Amino acid sequence: MIYKRSSALFSEAQKVIPGGVNSPVRAFKAVGGDPIFVKRAEGAYLYDEDGNTLIDYINSWGPMILGHAYPSVVNAVIEKTKKGTSFGMPTEIETEIAKLAVSMVPNIDKIRFVNSGTEACMSAVRLARGYTGKDKIIKFAGCYHGHSDSFLIQAGSGAVTFGSPNSPGVTKGTAQDTLLASYNDIESVTTLVENNRDEIACIIIEPVPGNMGCIPPSDGFLQSLRKVCDENDILLIFDEVMTGFRLAKGGAQELYGINADIVTFGKVIGGGLPVGAFAAREEIMNFLAPLGPVYQAGTLSGNPLAMAAGLAMLTELNSKPQVFESLAKKTEYLHKGLAEVLSRNKVTHTINRVGSMISVHFCETSVTNFETAALANNNTFKKFFHDMLAKGIYIAPSAFETWFLCDALTYEDLDKTIDACNEVSKQL
Ligand code: PMP
Repeated sequence: MIYKRSSALFSEAQKVIPGGVNSPVRAFKAVGGDPIFVKRAEGAYLYDEDGNTLIDYINSWGPMILGHAYPSVVNAVIEKTKKGTSFGMPTEIETEIAKLAVSMVPNIDKIRFVNSGTEACMSAVRLARGYTGKDKIIKFAGCYHGHSDSFLIQAGSGAVTFGSPNSPGVTKGTAQDTLLASYNDIESVTTLVENNRDEIACIIIEPVPGNMGCIPPSDGFLQSLRKVCDENDILLIFDEVMTGFRLAKGGAQELYGINADIVTFGKVIGGGLPVGAFAAREEIMNFLAPLGPVYQAGTLSGNPLAMAAGLAMLTELNSKPQVFESLAKKTEYLHKGLAEVLSRNKVTHTINRVGSMISVHFCETSVTNFETAALANNNTFKKFFHDMLAKGIYIAPSAFETWFLCDALTYEDLDKTIDACNEVSKQL
């Protein structure tokens, strides 16, 4: 495949945008080479600036669960745009999408919309601190909750891909209020809780981490976490920015039958427009301004275009719950196919999958947390990434990311992907 125009566009971008990208994970720094510039996308396919067609396994890092340019979402945005793009005043559609989200997700009474997953998680933690009157938080190594200061402590995703899981610019004071536990290791949590009695406001977790590749929770882990929180007056925050409206209508809470105290959303909830949200039961949400003392705001929060896209997306998912099953089946099919060809070609690997989230790790051990994710062979991943790309398959340009499937993918697309993996793995 030729990437002449993409490379030229990247050179221009680098002159005026740091690193040529507006979010680091878009750069190919971890795998080498220049990023691909997209011209348009439809269904399961990306069409790049050089005229190549790629099967897309990133799907905008999760939001495009039904595929790109989904007609009802596109039409909703077009129609809304004609009526004005922002007012900074309440609109009816905000209540409509809030009602729908509250009806789809277990255990939430009220929801507030923001503009990104970062804002959602940052606000959720502030609310937890305000509500409990405590300062410290526990997060898990390799989990990513956006780029707000408190979260850039052993963060996953781009932060670890670019070697800055602890970013300069985060003050020592902020960093010392973030305590670090190990995912799937409840003892690492109880030790922190015992050593910081009555100081911990919340535990924030990706119920299914997707930012160190995809990692399933081990049996009982999330239940134990719920118990620790209940016994110590700690709020449990599920960061469902990736898992919300993807793993099930009600996200990981529904899939695992566990109630979190605060839930954060991003990605699918905005149908591809910049939307995040956080939600909880009424007594917690009423702590927010203007009702309560915890301040949180946003000029563009609840923006009509974003709400129109989100409402169209959630309406579609709510009326077609079979989408989640269809996606899980497709992902299982891909999993089996990839595992078979990698094994046949004697490539050491571990594949993790939950619902429509899947990741391939080039290591022998099972990948259950950040330490084991970091054991994977990055050189093999780099070659795998580029060789798959050469065959028209676009996966995330880092081993510390998850592949997100969309329902527009056909079994023919999946077979093409498995065939490409077969060819590629002969050379790994
Ligand atoms: N939480 C999780 C689990 C995420 O995966 C991400 C982004 N990938 C975020 C929070 C931050 O979201 P955003 O990039 O929209 O700020």
